[in-house]
Amino acid sequence: MGSKVAIAIGAHPDDIEFYMAGTLLMLGKAGYETHYLNVASGSCGSAEYGSAALRAIRATEGRAAAKILDTHFHPSLTDDLEIFYNLGLLRSLAAVIREVKPNVILTHPPQDYMEDHTNTCRLAVTAAFARGMPNFKTTPSRPMADYEVTLYHSMPHGLRDQLRRRVTPGAFVNTASVHKTKRDALAAHKSQQKWLDVSQGLNSYLLAMEDMSLKVGGMSKRFKHAEGWRRHLHFGFCAEKSDPLAEALGRNYRVNEAYERGLEEPA
Ligand SMILES: [Zn+2]
Repeated sequence: MGSKVAIAIGAHPDDIEFYMAGTLLMLGKAGYETHYLNVASGSCGSAEYGSAALRAIRATEGRAAAKILDTHFHPSLTDDLEIFYNLGLLRSLAAVIREVKPNVILTHPPQDYMEDHTNTCRLAVTAAFARGMPNFKTTPSRPMADYEVTLYHSMPHGLRDQLRRRVTPGAFVNTASVHKTKRDALAAHKSQQKWLDVSQGLNSYLLAMEDMSLKVGGMSKRFKHAEGWRRHLHFGFCAEKSDPLAEALGRNYRVNEAYERGLEEPA
């Protein structure tokens, strides 16, 4: 196995904690250097504060969460509802990828309930694709590097796509041993507890994460708490069979063999 570097790329401060942090922690335990990037600043996630104050509050919360997750924090690149698939953001995100040189990227799925999530996914995919293309310029300018990277897409919010179709993971990561740390990191986003309770009817922010973790665990038929993943198709990224999560996590990883046959849960 080559390098052991993973980056989680979420849309908003707290998304990594909802969908990806357990796996990031498990990779850290397996000897990976881990990185943490929320593409947007969280600037719209409150009715109480103005955007400038909120940006600062949420950056502080994000750094605190990253500290709990023992991962390298990267500053946000734009504001909430401004994550578009555009050249400026692509150049910025590609620069982060070229600096970090991850061989594992964890990000949102291509279908999810809000556009910031789906656009983050699209940007992450292309930023990774451009890692070895010398004629693609990044901001700031960073030299290209050619190496294998495997992308994994998290479960969508509510475990359904935006057309309400159920999404089945292609693989499960057992997050039970790091669940408390994941929960502590989510709780570091203090400003969000009240806001999400009001805006999305999550009657408890922490319980919503807990519920999702248990549901995906149930789908795995093996783990109590789990995060679900689907691997991006390999073309332009890695070898066909590349699955670094399987290599790193061993028995704490379960491939859903039924997934490629017909979108079914494991027997
Ligand atoms: Zn989000």
